[in-house]
Amino acid sequence: MEKVVIIGSGPAAHTAAIYAARAKLEPVLFEGMMAAGVAAGGQLTTTTEVENFPGFPKGISGPELMMNMRQQSLNCGTRIETKTVTKVDFSARPFRIFIGDVVVEAKTVIIATGATARRLGITGEERLWQKGISACAVCDGGLPIFRDKPLVVIGGGDSAVEEATCLTKFASKVYVVHRRDALRASKVMQERLLANEKVEMVWDHVPIEAVGDKVLEGVKVRNVKTEKEKVLDANGLFYAIGHKPNTDFLEGQLNLDDSGYILTFAGTTKTEIEGVFACGDVQDKHYRQAITAAGTGCVAALEAERYLSEH
Ligand SMILES: Cc1cc2nc3c(=O)[nH]c(=O)nc-3n(C[C@H](O)[C@H](O)[C@H](O)COP(=O)(O)OP(=O)(O)OC[C@H]3O[C@@H](n4cnc5c(N)ncnc54)[C@H](O)[C@@H]3O)c2cc1C
Repeated sequence: MEKVVIIGSGPAAHTAAIYAARAKLEPVLFEGMMAAGVAAGGQLTTTTEVENFPGFPKGISGPELMMNMRQQSLNCGTRIETKTVTKVDFSARPFRIFIGDVVVEAKTVIIATGATARRLGITGEERLWQKGISACAVCDGGLPIFRDKPLVVIGGGDSAVEEATCLTKFASKVYVVHRRDALRASKVMQERLLANEKVEMVWDHVPIEAVGDKVLEGVKVRNVKTEKEKVLDANGLFYAIGHKPNTDFLEGQLNLDDSGYILTFAGTTKTEIEGVFACGDVQDKHYRQAITAAGTGCVAALEAERYLSEH
């Protein structure tokens, strides 16, 4: 039986693995095989430069950062399995983790399966992803390709308003494209956004095409009332249409919030089942950064270690 099984492969999972391995808990980490449509290594494998992870003054590419974390997990003694967990059974102890028909038993489980940014699937999206299209303004907004350039944000909720406000610091202009004629975000945030002279609202429009050959040069939008189309000249397109936490495999065995994020006790990574911990973006819909995911990964390993020594 395993002492600690870690499910996931982003910064939260690998930080938990490094701490658990150094505590001689011999963790096993299931990194997934294109789990939730993302390669092992998680969301940072889908980006280019990471400039805000401490320790890399010149920045580091997302895939390289994740390769380094994986290697560090291995060096510390983690066993990594390139398999996707399909089901869990937390109804009895030891806990059971399923990889298809194969069952692994564990005393503690750390869930770090992250979340996947929702995409629109518009024409040109695949080709221009990370060549002008991003799903994270806080992460990518300051990159040179977006500085002093016109940018487009898609969405109308709190995170869209937050992302658009953040982009006004770097952009020459920010178009906010929303399919309705009013935002869903809170009044205070809306007022702050609408008062910013760099912002232009594009009401009642939906994006239909990312325009550009090698990099994004514009966004074609369609008016949902008149069906008229136009192209907004822009060098950046930011999706702010939400994330999907990767919790389907739990099949209702842990308490989730309305959006599917795992609920943990405040200030901890403890779930309502003792011995089951959740860290990273799968339980954090507010900050969603590599460093915050890594931080909670550390907490999860320390809490698992304490749980094991007490039981
Ligand atoms: C385009 C983009 C750019 C970003 N840039 C930055 C940046 O510059 N700086 C920054 O701090 N943050 C950035 N972020 C945010 C950052 O990537 C996330 O906050 C961070 O990766 C979350 O880490 P995590 O460990 O919670 O999980 P994730 O990175 O989401 O990784 C979890 C992974 O676990 C695996 N998995 C899922 N389900 C299963 C399963 N059932 N079995 C086994 N494995 C499974 C999958 O591979 C999954 O992707 C960016 C995000 C995106 C989308």
